[in-house]
Amino acid sequence: MKRIDCHTHILPEKLPDWSRKFGYGDFIRLEPSRKDHANMMMGSRFFREIHRNCWDANLRIDEYARFKTDVQVVSTIPVLFSYWAKAHDALEISKFLNDHIAELSVRYPKNYIGLGTVPMQDPSLAITEIERCKSIGLRGIEIGSNINGENLSDPKFFSVFEACERLGMAILIHPWNMMGEKEMQRYWLPWLVGMPAETTRAVCSMIFGGVLERLPKLRVNFSHAGGSFFATVGRISHGFQSRPDLVAIDNKIDPADYIGKFWVDCITHDPDFLSYILPKQGSKRITLGSDYPFPLGDLEIGSFVDQMSISESEKEDIFLRSALEWLGMDQNSI
Ligand SMILES: [Zn+2]
Repeated sequence: MKRIDCHTHILPEKLPDWSRKFGYGDFIRLEPSRKDHANMMMGSRFFREIHRNCWDANLRIDEYARFKTDVQVVSTIPVLFSYWAKAHDALEISKFLNDHIAELSVRYPKNYIGLGTVPMQDPSLAITEIERCKSIGLRGIEIGSNINGENLSDPKFFSVFEACERLGMAILIHPWNMMGEKEMQRYWLPWLVGMPAETTRAVCSMIFGGVLERLPKLRVNFSHAGGSFFATVGRISHGFQSRPDLVAIDNKIDPADYIGKFWVDCITHDPDFLSYILPKQGSKRITLGSDYPFPLGDLEIGSFVDQMSISESEKEDIFLRSALEWLGMDQNSI
């Protein structure tokens, strides 16, 4: 049985100097570092050192083979979303990144499935690029948990979700631009506390804003097992029941009713928590994910799921069938 890892990141080996080209902004660029590494820079500021497994397609395939996984769904690194930039510049960046991912999926059809990135700061441009993404073979898009601080419930984004439903394009929601980031730099808290909260913000926004209600065929996968949503959904549902005047203003359906209608990946780093989520979501709505190749990811690509005492059928759902359904693919197409 093949396995599909639905949450991985990739970028081209070389990036243009967009700051110089556009004449403003700290766009991400790559600088040489030690052997087989590069530094991601935001202007003159160091962001992160990356290893060549961030761009080397063959090395990635070899690393995956060690964990019985053949297929990677690749998406860009959220810091490259460029939602803050002028929309046409973000579109140019999106096209560059999307073309790279599309080429990979054509060259390695058994190993790579692509998701695009789109300039969400301009929904009509975003829709144009979603249409182009579909035409070049990408299966969906990855978008941030907020768009420059605005929630995904904002009516201006609805047309983007509507286009994804119409075109059958899957969506991966990825935390980024974390709330409270400036106030909690120490101890890596934006990644450890902010990211799970961001994903929960996105789940709640899409439920309370009526996006999931109005677009029942939209296929959305929330990263990192939905962040802290499943740990707090009792509170969220109770809040909906106890203060409908605050919560149920755009959608009258209990948020708990949407569990099992969207997808989440399995990146919990904790089999007990995955066991807690599993009967709620159902195995058909949990996909294998890793966040490879970053150190906070599950770099043994779901090996902990192999060791869990759950049925083989549930494992097959998590490793393969849920992903196929989320991506709108069948087994023969990989
Ligand atoms: Zn990620």
